[in-house]
Amino acid sequence: MSEICPICGLPKELCVCTKIQREQQVITVSLKKAKWGKYVTVLRGFEGVDIKKIARELKTRLACGGSAKGDMIILQGNHLDRVKKELIRLGIPPENIHMEEY
Ligand SMILES: [Zn+2]
Repeated sequence: MSEICPICGLPKELCVCTKIQREQQVITVSLKKAKWGKYVTVLRGFEGVDIKKIARELKTRLACGGSAKGDMIILQGNHLDRVKKELIRLGIPPENIHMEEY
């Protein structure tokens, strides 16, 4: 017995809801100075996706700590150089990822 998606009613292996949801995300990435002169990478704009799961996947891939709160994922450290590639890998379209310039 496979798990059924509560949104479309299809078995989880056939369901593309997660994929579609991720394709609809418009994410803003910025770098913020945290305590003790350290940096955190802030990703904002997540809506209707499993943000905790995305945060977990990013933390694993980038080997860092972090947390998810509301529409926001905060990753410990400066990951500006890699986070876009990882978001694309997770199904966010590159044109929907906005890097805030400094
Ligand atoms: Zn579904």
